[in-house]
Amino acid sequence: MEPTRSATVLSATDLTPNVRQLIILPKFEKLAFLPGQWVSLKLPLGLKQPLNRAYSMATPASPSGELTLVFDRVPRGMGSGYLYQLKAGDPLLLSGPYGNFVLPRLLDREVLFVARHTGLVPIRCMLKALYATREASRALLIAVGPAENELLYHHELLSLAMTRSSFRYLPLVASTEESAVEFTISMLRPLVEGMPKFIPMLCGTKQFVRPLRNYFVEAGYDRKEVKTEMYD
Ligand SMILES: Cc1cc2nc3c(=O)[nH]c(=O)nc-3n(C[C@H](O)[C@H](O)[C@H](O)COP(=O)(O)OP(=O)(O)OC[C@H]3O[C@@H](n4cnc5c(N)ncnc54)[C@H](O)[C@@H]3O)c2cc1C
Repeated sequence: MEPTRSATVLSATDLTPNVRQLIILPKFEKLAFLPGQWVSLKLPLGLKQPLNRAYSMATPASPSGELTLVFDRVPRGMGSGYLYQLKAGDPLLLSGPYGNFVLPRLLDREVLFVARHTGLVPIRCMLKALYATREASRALLIAVGPAENELLYHHELLSLAMTRSSFRYLPLVASTEESAVEFTISMLRPLVEGMPKFIPMLCGTKQFVRPLRNYFVEAGYDRKEVKTEMYD
């Protein structure tokens, strides 16, 4: 079990109308983590404190030791509601890093990332790591936002796709999880069926990720070949 560490909020910034970024700095020691991993925040909330909530790092480890966490405003959500009112200077407790939703060591096939809304956070971190070097593996991202003005990292991803020929970015807008699944599957069909296999990496809530994993299995993928991170 990783020890609990204290951290301080350095800044709070809105990335979209309903998505916020917190930059936090763990005290004393830097946190070593792999892109795609998450920390458990221990929030002073609820009857049985602390309330543990997981948040993925949005940016790879930096020399300064700062961690970038990005989250959406969940209606009546206790954890995200608490995080939304934090400001520079506030304290936080966390443990970690945790998680296996990380890039495979052997990138022998094109990675196909699929994310809904803040499911993009760990994937953005992996993309940053992947394209930090000039030689980068091939990757395709399908990112589904709940509204046009909620497409997270949209301009950054567009410019990555324009500057790196090995990266393809397909943004989509779908207001519900059901329509997000439906639109994503229609987009996947011509890319997946009868085509060379990808390394699929899916992230979001169960309602989004599970039907997509089933889709890949029906399309001939082994269940274990489909990497997933579910937020609930
Ligand atoms: C491994 C892991 C990594 C995670 N990384 C992130 C992250 O980087 N950014 C992030 O925003 N969230 C992330 N989450 C989700 C996060 O931990 C919380 O569950 C989320 O913020 C809701 O908590 P809450 O207390 O506000 O609401 P709750 O009352 O606990 O949740 C209410 C319902 O909201 C749904 N839900 C869960 N996560 C989300 C979400 N992000 N957006 C909308 N609905 C949601 C669930 O169906 C849940 O039942 C991650 C979860 C896991 C397990």
